[in-house]
Amino acid sequence: MSTYNPVTPAIAEELKTIVGEKNVIFNDQEHLFPFSHDEIPGTRYRTMPEAVVFPESAEEVSKIIRLANRELIPLTPRGAGSGLSGGAVPIYGGIVIASSRMNRILEFDAENLMITVEPGVIANDINEHIKESGLFYAGYPMSMESCFIGGNIGENAGGGKAVKYGVTSRYVLGLEVVLPNGDIVEVGGKLLKDVTGYNMVPLFSGSEGTLGFVTKIILKLIPRPKEQVDLLCLFEKPEQAVQAVPEILTKSGVLPTSLEYMDKVAVQKACEYLHEELPYEKCGAMLIVTLDGDDMEELIAEYERVGKFCEECGATEIYVADNKVNSERIWKIRRAVPEAFSLASPLQSGEDVVVPPNAIAKVAAQCKIIAEKYGVFIPCYGHAGDGNLHARVTPPKSWSEEKWYATLPEILKELYAAVKKEGGRISGEHGIGHKRKKYMECVVSKEYLNMLRTLKRAFDPNNIMNPGKIFDLE
Ligand SMILES: Cc1cc2nc3c(=O)[nH]c(=O)nc-3n(C[C@H](O)[C@H](O)[C@H](O)COP(=O)(O)OP(=O)(O)OC[C@H]3O[C@@H](n4cnc5c(N)ncnc54)[C@H](O)[C@@H]3O)c2cc1C
Repeated sequence: MSTYNPVTPAIAEELKTIVGEKNVIFNDQEHLFPFSHDEIPGTRYRTMPEAVVFPESAEEVSKIIRLANRELIPLTPRGAGSGLSGGAVPIYGGIVIASSRMNRILEFDAENLMITVEPGVIANDINEHIKESGLFYAGYPMSMESCFIGGNIGENAGGGKAVKYGVTSRYVLGLEVVLPNGDIVEVGGKLLKDVTGYNMVPLFSGSEGTLGFVTKIILKLIPRPKEQVDLLCLFEKPEQAVQAVPEILTKSGVLPTSLEYMDKVAVQKACEYLHEELPYEKCGAMLIVTLDGDDMEELIAEYERVGKFCEECGATEIYVADNKVNSERIWKIRRAVPEAFSLASPLQSGEDVVVPPNAIAKVAAQCKIIAEKYGVFIPCYGHAGDGNLHARVTPPKSWSEEKWYATLPEILKELYAAVKKEGGRISGEHGIGHKRKKYMECVVSKEYLNMLRTLKRAFDPNNIMNPGKIFDLE
């Protein structure tokens, strides 16, 4: 294990010289506390930082990183802290570098269909900024209204539109990154193709702040579709709903924008949380199928085709939302599911498994078998069209904390073995952080892990950038 040095009052003074006195938190437990956790429920994955700094430029970030290298102090990049794997948690203490002051939209380049932003811009604000232009940024995590674009790159965020539009990395054309030695580098640029050396841009997407601190981002924009229709399809049994997913994808001839799954418990929890009503009593699971395009008549023909497939798979009722109010009502419920679950119990494990889309029914079935075997609950929801299932493993109320943490690893190993069998992985979008790192070997080879470690050592020989995330070096 790496040995690090503490942040002394003298180091805190140096940090203040770099970013200004009011942009450093030190020796102030109350104000350091919000930076000790992300959105993982419960207290198990929390660690206090020794200092938090709020730089405003790449030059300031570079000076902080050089200082940390000189003094061997761990650094943890942080966006909005909405992560679900502990990526932004400073597990060795040290300094958190928060990006919230780096929140400017630097340039909207309509001629090239690109936008350049700083990492602390809230993801949704990008689309707000360009909404009159007829263009949009198609990355779309459910936490869009709170998470930062830098954090989206850290986790290569997916979300509700990935079936059609793909995940964050598809839209990242260029980055400015401060490397773990303090060098400021530009990777990629305003280019749609570039083979001038290694293709480095995608490497940073999903690197969870372990390879550098992103200070500038060039994103690709695309024309915004004019029309959208959402179908809410009710199925009697969860198996029917998940089975409908590959059917729609392979046989309807339609590529949906979103294909989201929520079992009955997920819908119920979200409705209770929002004081909303959906007819969840009548069904075992629901699918939200979103279609978008420019021609309403075409969309109507498409949703009728999709609806027919859903009915053939056992949908008992299908509601059509073809205006913003109804559409928002459905999506608000879907977006509330994670929050509603998180509030329900401090003892739970939010899983993020991903398999090829045609294997999702098998994994959902396996969740049921595992839940029965261990006497726990595993309600599921997620981006079914991407093969990405969020399984919330939750113990019965009678379980002690001790029993829960003793049993959870067994449950997870069984779940991950089922996922591996289908060619899947343990995280589709939330990342590994420190929550899942000990399970990496359940799905990837030792050789693969060694390759990641070699890369990390080459970038960060002192192991100061977000150490202990994704994997341990030793
Ligand atoms: C209600 C809810 C819904 C969610 N829905 C989705 C969803 O649909 N899809 C999805 O993918 N995720 C989802 N998430 C998870 C989370 O919002 C995403 O992982 C998001 O990308 C994290 O962004 P953030 O700004 O909060 O990053 P943080 O949590 O602060 O950090 C995430 C990681 O990025 C690194 N990082 C942050 N900024 C930088 C930077 N400037 N340079 C380098 N590394 C950096 C951090 O070190 C950390 O490893 C959801 C979370 C919640 C609470």
